[in-house]
Order: sequence, then C-alpha cells, then structure tokens
Amino acid sequence: MSLFLGEVLECVLGKETAITMAKDEAKASDFSKGLLQSEELYKYILETSVYPREPEALKELRSVTHNYPMANMAIAPDAGKLMEMLLNLVNARKTIEVGVFTGYSLLLTALTLPEDGKILQVIAIDVNRSTYEIGLPVIKKAGVEHKIDFRESEALPVLDELLNHEENEGGFDFAFVDADKVSYWNYHERLMRLIKVGGIIVYDNTLWGGSVAEPDSSTPEGKREGKKAILELNKKLSADKRVQISQVALGDGITICRRLY
Ligand code: SAH
Ligand code: CA
Repeated sequence: MSLFLGEVLECVLGKETAITMAKDEAKASDFSKGLLQSEELYKYILETSVYPREPEALKELRSVTHNYPMANMAIAPDAGKLMEMLLNLVNARKTIEVGVFTGYSLLLTALTLPEDGKILQVIAIDVNRSTYEIGLPVIKKAGVEHKIDFRESEALPVLDELLNHEENEGGFDFAFVDADKVSYWNYHERLMRLIKVGGIIVYDNTLWGGSVAEPDSSTPEGKREGKKAILELNKKLSADKRVQISQVALGDGITICRRLY
C-alpha cells in the first residue's frame, strides 16, 4: 500500500482497520512466492526437515535438473517427502508413474521400494524419453535402474494395455500422476482399476498456482485450459465415493486419493 493511500485510509477508517488492510495487501502481493506465501517459511521447512534428509542421489538429480529449461516441473522436494512416507505406509512394491520428466519423483520412488529381492517395479510413462535420459545417469549411479520399467509413450494406451491383462487389476499399490492435466480424469478411471483397494493415487498440481480460487480474468491465457481441467478434476474427485481424498497445499497442490472399494 502506498504511504499516501495508507494515510487516507487511516483518516477515513481509523488506524487499526487501515493496518489490517495494509497487511492483507502485503499477503496478496506475496502470491507469486507460491502457495505457502512466505519465502522465509518455505526456506525454513526445506532447511529444517527436507534437505537434511534428502538422499544424495536426489540432491544430485535436483541439481542436474536445475540447469534444464522448465526445471520447475519437477515435484517440490517437500512434497517428495510426503510421497516417500505414503509409499512406505502402503508398503509399495509395484507402482505407476505418469509423467517422468528428468526423474526426481521416479528416483525417489525407486529408492523407497524395499531391497528384499521380491518383485519390485515402477512402470514409468512419459512421451519424452530425452528428459528421462538427463536424469538416467544419476538413477544408474544410485543402483535402482533395475526397478524401473520406462515406457516412452502417451500414458493412456499404456494404462489400457496394462488393463488387458487381468492380473494387473488391483495389482499396483501406488500411482503418481504428474502429466497433461486434461487427461487426469481419464487416468483416474484406469488407475482406479489398476490400484488395489487400500492403495494410493497422488495427483500433482491440483491447486494450479492457486488460480483455482481466482477469477479467470486473473489467470494468464496459457494457463486457462489446465485450470479448467484441474477445476473439473477436483470437483469429480470430491464426488467420487470410491476414494478417500486429502487436498494438500504442498508444492503446487497435491491430492491424495486412497481407494476404498
Ligand atoms: N514427475 C516429474 C515431473 C513431470 S513433468 C518430476 O517430479 O520431475 C510432466 C511430464 O509429463 C513431462 O515430462 C511430459 O513429457 C509428460 N507428459 C505430458 N503429457 C503426457 C502424456 N499424454 N503421456 C505421458 N506423459 C506426458
Ligand atoms: Ca508437477
């Protein structure tokens, strides 16, 4: 708030109301700093409980990705910590990842699957193999490449192909979806058959930069199609009785779905 406007408001509204309005405006102007709205608080979270516990391989992958255009597509490291915990909680052995990019969430998943000699597998799908190859040397060095079955393809036909084999119905413990937003609901319908009852599906970017609660006029043209898809997804997930859901305001917003039946 400009000093002049502040002074005018103070005269008209009284000092306390004017101060509250000034604080509200400060919050609004912090919007660009992400959903948490405080860079200092986010830094505190990362430095206190995320970076000290982030495996070296993931740090390296983050740094390799950092120099690459669109680096912000990778899952936020604090959201990664939650994902790691969810994978552990469902004792994940077989998982599906839709949208790999350079592989931060994929490496995190592969590192989390237990090392007990039994069948472990991440089916990782991306239309673009070349970004996967940027992270691949780090994945190889971490010794977990054998757990990954990478498929260079549109995701939908791969999910449909999996469903052609009866043994895959309910055959997966966990899925992470972080690709083209317009297809999320189509993925959901397939994943609800592939994930077992009690298993978890996580959707990324479900608050779409916070724009889901803004009028369209404030959303840049290029982000409106994604916003429309996310709004529809959020509404449909909320009405989907087959899943328990939790909308979490980490990163760009993630929605955790647990299959109930
Ligand atoms: N989960 C990743 C980030 C994924 S970014 C991480 O944590 O780093 C989104 C990815 O989705 C991109 O790599 C893009 O190539 C992929 N993608 C977009 N549309 C897709 C589609 N229809 N099928 C499969 N992958 C797709
Ligand atoms: Ca994402």
